[in-house]
Amino acid sequence: MGVWTVERLQALLPDANPAGFRLAVLGDPVEHSLSPGMQNAALAARRLPYRYDRLLVSPAELPTAFACLRKLEFIGWNLTLPHKIAGYDLVDRLDPEAEALGAINTVVNQDGVLIGFNTDGRGLRAALTDAFGIEPAQCRIALLGAGGGAGQASARFLANLKPKKLLLVNRTAGKMESLQRQLAANADVTFWDFGQLREVFLQADLIINASSQGLTGTALDWDPKWLRPEHRVFDMVYRSQNDTPLVAWARQNGVPAVDGLLMLLHQGAFAFEHWFGQPVPLDVMREALMGRMNNK
Ligand code: NAP
Repeated sequence: MGVWTVERLQALLPDANPAGFRLAVLGDPVEHSLSPGMQNAALAARRLPYRYDRLLVSPAELPTAFACLRKLEFIGWNLTLPHKIAGYDLVDRLDPEAEALGAINTVVNQDGVLIGFNTDGRGLRAALTDAFGIEPAQCRIALLGAGGGAGQASARFLANLKPKKLLLVNRTAGKMESLQRQLAANADVTFWDFGQLREVFLQADLIINASSQGLTGTALDWDPKWLRPEHRVFDMVYRSQNDTPLVAWARQNGVPAVDGLLMLLHQGAFAFEHWFGQPVPLDVMREALMGRMNNK
């Protein structure tokens, strides 16, 4: 089906929604998203007669997209880059966890009432356990890109788990101001800029990248000497082809590293549960994602 646009979606109104198109991921860019393969496999496994597609939505179009999807009686949708913070203000109600995290990645349309959820935090935690067998509470964590939508939500989520240290890093310092106000009382949480990465890496054993740096394949201007064998690198970014620059860089330097595919899997499984309840066909979703990656 390719990528839908808001214009194409509007053209469907007031006609009927094409059979089954009731779930979507909204982003800009969105072509790279692997959510449709995973969610459509889950829908098929549960014998649900719906389809999940990509919808390209610019920041200016986001309110129109929400209005259209509500009118077209969508079951729900996911939000990806760069809509997670803006989407927060466009729903009618917020789940308490999403409210605490300040961003949403999942919307449930309950009879015309839009409810915002955030499954990224729980997805991240499940992915870290899945990938490295670790619990965030045991770690000294450096979170890069802490000022972005996924980054801010992850910072709040991780801070609540009380890790040994949480070092928050963002290119634009101003975007961490609300986090600074909120987490200032916690002495284990500190704030840094990208120019201080060497020092940040020295104090951390788990490095999580929540910045979109690397999404487009840009090379990293970081010194491999900053890495140590005891580091674990988790890059939230994922690509349908090849490793992300961060994962490739870490592995070349002998450091265990995984990309964001496992987080995508677990946040997607939690989103599916919000839309359809249990059982969630996690193994089918995992197979669909890994199969897609193996076919690259
Ligand atoms: P966002 O709200 O647009 O935030 C982007 C973040 O990236 C900001 O912190 C921004 O810093 C930073 N950034 C962008 N280019 C940079 C560069 N060249 N150098 C340093 N920092 C840079 O996006 P988001 O929704 O948080 O998503 C961020 C990334 O996480 C995306 O790649 C997304 O696909 C990924 N993600 C993956 C999953 C998953 O399930 N695997 C879940 C959530 C997010 P400034 O504040 O300075 O602009």
